[in-house]
Amino acid sequence: MTSNPTRVLVLNSGSSSLKYQLLDMADRSRLAVGLVERIGDEQARLVHTPLAAGGEKRERIEPIGDHDAALKAVATELSEDGLGLDSPELAAIGHRVVHGGKRFTRPTVVDEEVMAEIERLIPVAPLHNPANITGIRTAQRLRPDLPQVAVFDTAFHQTMPEAASRYALDTELADAHRIRRYGFHGTSHAYVSRETAKLLGKAPEEVNVIVLHLGNGASASAVAGGRCVDTSMGLTPLEGLVMGTRSGDLDPAVIFHLARNAEMDLPEIDALLNKRSGLLGLCGDNDMREIRRRVEAGDEKARLAFDIYIHRLKKYIGAYTAVLGRVDAVAFTAGVGENAAPVRAAAVAGLEELGLAVDASLNEARADGARLISPEYARVAVAVVPTDEELEIAGQTYELVRS
Ligand code: AMP
Repeated sequence: MTSNPTRVLVLNSGSSSLKYQLLDMADRSRLAVGLVERIGDEQARLVHTPLAAGGEKRERIEPIGDHDAALKAVATELSEDGLGLDSPELAAIGHRVVHGGKRFTRPTVVDEEVMAEIERLIPVAPLHNPANITGIRTAQRLRPDLPQVAVFDTAFHQTMPEAASRYALDTELADAHRIRRYGFHGTSHAYVSRETAKLLGKAPEEVNVIVLHLGNGASASAVAGGRCVDTSMGLTPLEGLVMGTRSGDLDPAVIFHLARNAEMDLPEIDALLNKRSGLLGLCGDNDMREIRRRVEAGDEKARLAFDIYIHRLKKYIGAYTAVLGRVDAVAFTAGVGENAAPVRAAAVAGLEELGLAVDASLNEARADGARLISPEYARVAVAVVPTDEELEIAGQTYELVRS
């Protein structure tokens, strides 16, 4: 028996997918990673990589009917590597839960009352919270003796002052329907803002950071002394930056205009703004690699999409500089932020008056890990900081259960 179990299983459940990582928090190492896709399909796919055992990636295509069957298949794979989920070394299971509303400002051990609250939030996260609930129920059935911890995407942003979180709507109506700005990607913004402080050799309390999480979904946050004071996503992850397939900020009257003039109903407009807008809507591609390739080849449509993406990003850097008053660092993270040097260079170009600049050779150098890309003279540090949401979820889960 292990007296101090240190392993944490992190689960990220989607409606037809289950992503997982098994970590050992004694040394923050990753023991295994994988995912199950197309749950409910005859051709479900499980991809599993046992990192600890130095094993090769394994792939299985087979019918997997539901999340219970998916987690059992994962457990079988882990057992093969001597990492079974029945191990006494497993301390807890940490779940990514997208919407925690106003109430959940911290990671929380799940009980029936917590589950009921996550369920009550379904109207503001209709796609995500039901899948997250399924994931928790599934894990509870597998290990009813273990703490299940919910780590909320919205939690880090709940320190926003009301001036930033409230929309200018009728107060009673907004409150009755829980309409406010919640923000998302919170585990990433928390992790990256802390790692940025570390990179500057400072405590999180000492620095003000603008975090730009630029993935397929994208969001910016203003973090003052370790606390979020503003973020670009709102009631849902649709607001803010231009994203892969989401429009981001838009005059709300566009919706009435489409309903009146384009004969579109609400579900169609919802799908348009969430799935067929952003970079994809502008130029037919949502992958920044492909867009850059087209820009380099002289494609005008891709160039305009890129310019619109950058214009919006710059506006948020300027806005959050004003919100923070003093900025110590701007940190780029996630798929685009970590990899696309042209995005970083363009986002900061012309912002010298704000103290921002990028050193071209540092920006373009291929490197892993957190690093500075600003020249020494720059007043504001510009950094590339790889995000690690699973490590953050595992860390928060472990902190909560080990006490
Ligand atoms: P994420 O949601 O954080 O996984 O980011 C996914 C996105 O990152 C993809 O859609 C790509 O647009 C982008 N991406 C990944 N690698 C690169 C790269 N080398 N250059 C530009 N964009 C990249």
